[in-house]
Amino acid sequence: FITLLHNVKNNYTRKELVQGKKITFSRQELKAALANDEFTMHYQPQIDIASGKVRSIEALVRWQHPHLGLVYPDEFISLIEGFGLIDELTSSVLSAACEDLKQFKVYQPQLNLSVNVTSDNIVSLAFPELLKNISDENNIKPNDITLELTESAVMGHLTSSLDVLSRLRMKGFHLSIDDFGTGYSSLQQLYQAPFNELKIDRTFTSKMLVDNEAMVIVKICIMLGKMLNMKTLAEGVENEEILNELKQLGCDYAQGYFVSKPLSFNQFSEWLLSQ
Ligand code: C2E
Ligand code: CA
Ligand code: CA
Ligand code: CA
Repeated sequence: FITLLHNVKNNYTRKELVQGKKITFSRQELKAALANDEFTMHYQPQIDIASGKVRSIEALVRWQHPHLGLVYPDEFISLIEGFGLIDELTSSVLSAACEDLKQFKVYQPQLNLSVNVTSDNIVSLAFPELLKNISDENNIKPNDITLELTESAVMGHLTSSLDVLSRLRMKGFHLSIDDFGTGYSSLQQLYQAPFNELKIDRTFTSKMLVDNEAMVIVKICIMLGKMLNMKTLAEGVENEEILNELKQLGCDYAQGYFVSKPLSFNQFSEWLLSQ
């Protein structure tokens, strides 16, 4: 932290800090950021491919750092986990996103919300109740909320995770496997855990038109989703050709820069109005 302050004082730009050494933050600093509400949400639309209409938004957290400007999640999520603060972050993300969702629903009553959840979140048996309380307080039905988990999150401690995941399902939350195909034991996870959505990782989506292996994997993911009665969502859709191909293949939903980049509350409100 002292090194960091020193660097800031010496007018290093954030980019230089990132490229030079990985920025590190102390527990104290992250705890203060939570207490001071320095985390802010961006939203990226997920569209229904068949109708072209927005169906959901993924909440993506950013840290409005007092000196460094906007800090992206890859730079602090694992630190937050390591410091045992992830339940606090997830709660604050969900509650901020539910509040914003209420506003967005004025324009689009059917709009749903996706929130990212990590492995440490699903260790705690109290986690489902915590999330249910937050959605209740905001008058948002768990049925309108999807929790995105990466494969490694679940496989880390399978038995306890499965208990938490089925409790979440019983409360009405939807569960999505994020970055599908990039983790390990994907199939075992599909077999054992109560997921309803499969989110195809962008490494496959973005290359599907130029790389036959990527195309085969995308096709298999979509087929697997259909046969297991799950919705399929392709992330990282960066152009119209990819979107059209996904439509041909029968993929349900799409997310990516071609539809929209992640947007602030105000930007997303405008985007929604323009639809
Ligand atoms: P993710 O869940 O895989 O989120 C998708 C990331 O891909 C986002 O980066 C998004 O901005 C980026 N992206 C979206 N569309 C495209 C595209 O078309 N092309 C490319 N190249 N990238 C695209 P972001 O916001 O930096 O988030 C990074 C990761 O941080 C997320 O990956 C997620 O794992 C984690 N994260 C974000 N918000 C939260 C949160 O509230 N809680 C937790 N636990 N993790 C979060
Ligand atoms: Ca995600
Ligand atoms: Ca993802
Ligand atoms: Ca990803």
